Amino acid sequence: MEQKNTPIEAARQTLIQLMQRKLPPTPDNFRSVYDEIMGIKSIDQSAELGKTLEKVLNQAGKQKTKYIAIAKAINPLIEKGDWPKIEEQLTKLFPSAVAGADVEETNWSVVIRNLLKQLEVSHKGVTLSRKKEGLSKVLVNFASDSDVLAQKIQALISSWGLSGTADAVASLDAAIEVPTTAGTVLPASSDVPQPATISATSVGGSTQWRDMLLRAFELVIIPNLEAAPEMHQKAVNLLSRMQKASNEQSLIICAADLKSILLSLEMQRDQQSRIHESLLQLLRLVLSSMGEMVQTEDQWLYAQTIVISDIVSRPVSLNTLYDAESSLKELVYKQAQIKPALTEAKDTLKKMVTTFVDRLVEMTESTSDYHDKIEAYQQKIATTDNIGELNVLLNSILDDTRSIGLTVQRTRDEFASSQKQALAAEMRIQELTAELDYIGQVAHQDYLTGALNRRGMDEAIEREFNRADRHNTTLCIAMLDIDHFKKLNDTLGHATGDEALTHLVKVLKDVLRTTDVLARYGGEEFIIILPDTPQDEAVKIITRVQRELTKNFFMHNSERVLITFSAGVAERALNEAPEALIPRADAALYKAKHSGRNQVVAADTLPESLV
Ligand code: GH3
Ligand code: MG
Ligand code: MG
Repeated sequence: MEQKNTPIEAARQTLIQLMQRKLPPTPDNFRSVYDEIMGIKSIDQSAELGKTLEKVLNQAGKQKTKYIAIAKAINPLIEKGDWPKIEEQLTKLFPSAVAGADVEETNWSVVIRNLLKQLEVSHKGVTLSRKKEGLSKVLVNFASDSDVLAQKIQALISSWGLSGTADAVASLDAAIEVPTTAGTVLPASSDVPQPATISATSVGGSTQWRDMLLRAFELVIIPNLEAAPEMHQKAVNLLSRMQKASNEQSLIICAADLKSILLSLEMQRDQQSRIHESLLQLLRLVLSSMGEMVQTEDQWLYAQTIVISDIVSRPVSLNTLYDAESSLKELVYKQAQIKPALTEAKDTLKKMVTTFVDRLVEMTESTSDYHDKIEAYQQKIATTDNIGELNVLLNSILDDTRSIGLTVQRTRDEFASSQKQALAAEMRIQELTAELDYIGQVAHQDYLTGALNRRGMDEAIEREFNRADRHNTTLCIAMLDIDHFKKLNDTLGHATGDEALTHLVKVLKDVLRTTDVLARYGGEEFIIILPDTPQDEAVKIITRVQRELTKNFFMHNSERVLITFSAGVAERALNEAPEALIPRADAALYKAKHSGRNQVVAADTLPESLV
């Protein structure tokens, strides 16, 4: 074929040739005929591209085996011109660059840092040489794919942490196992180091887990078994074995014992809750029969039984039990109070009935006397014709009738007076009951000021001292006494004095914290319990009350009356009893009075020897 030198001529000849050879004018056909005309060796660019890609991928496959698989797949696809599949294969080369792909690049700095750390840390039962051996197997097996290599190194590290357990073996197998798809080098080694012991000091969380579980066992499970001494002892023994457990075998034995202890704990809990429920049921039964018994006799007692029944019918909590307990105490208290009054009322009624019966006997005696006399008179009347004698008889009858009337009258009067007495006794009972109802309601409170009374104070002291002992905290007692209160009473009257007391309590309640307890110790003296408060802070709080009193005046007949008080504050020494602490606060109060009143004085700290 004649060679045409100009490209235009070559192109024209190319088109002619395509027509003559009846070839479709595709770019490939055009290029091949054109090259032929121009005398150039035609290059199949697709094939070239395929070859180049294969070469590059094979080269890259030396680091990552997956490139080799792609290299093999891509050439036939290029030959076939299957562009979608080619794209698919090429996408695999850059997974992280594809939008939406969730593939993380290996962070080798993290992997290596972790590896170095775990190589240094001691894992009981896994020696350093064993670690190195495992690591070298992983490196040999998976060096061809950096991603897989990173995963296998992580798995190997995890297997050190789990050493001694069945999981550890599985984990180690997984770490050094060679996936068949990788098609490379070594099979999983049969002489894989088998961790023989459990790590007691291993890191990576397992030590913490172990310690936490042992602690939970010691602090939660063992105390719960105290009611069953045998099981309790078994649990104590198990704890010590678990603490010492150093191999898989001993762990397996411990696990079996633990299972049996947990089972008996569950059974015991079940039994306890049944006992609990039965006791409650018993209490409900007692309350309901008690309620029925007292229903007609004492409405207050009956109402109380209803209140308690209501409390125990609700789901039981510490609060509901506390409520039930204090209501029951109230019930007992009330019963003790009302009993003497009831006995007194019964005695009165008994006397009344006795008097009535006595009078009735007297009356029937005199009336039967009268019947006898009437009968005698009747006979005499029947046998006499003498008017004079009849007159005498009639007078006698009249006398006798009058005496019967007098007896009846006397009986009626006495009966009426007994009735009056009984009525008075009944009213007294009613009054007493009403009074006791009130006392019952406010049994812990001072009726005038609403602060706790002595009874409430004693309970609060016991409660707060116990709490302080339990929590190992301190507390303070402040003792307050109004200054020159006698004078206030004398000038403004006792009733105003009462109002002043109420005002002081109101101000105190406003300033004190909800945890502080205020009680009327007597007269115009008050005690404040300040839980969990050191002395200097307690002094500050009481001083704040003093300041507040100077701002918040007590008003009498629209006039401001300044009330001041003196106070002594004492902090409880270790285990100090209320009987010792209160006098110390009192002594400080005495000092406050003597240093001019309207002062807060802190008690001297106890000498070390007395603490
Ligand atoms: P001081 O500053 O030394 O405490 O002087 P004082 O006048 O307050 O002396 P003291 O404490 O001995 O007097 C207490 C007075 O408080 C005696 C009593 O009349 C009065 N008082 C006690 N209880 C009540 C009460 O319930 N109501 C009233 N209005 N006065 C009371
Ligand atoms: Mg006083
Ligand atoms: Mg006083």
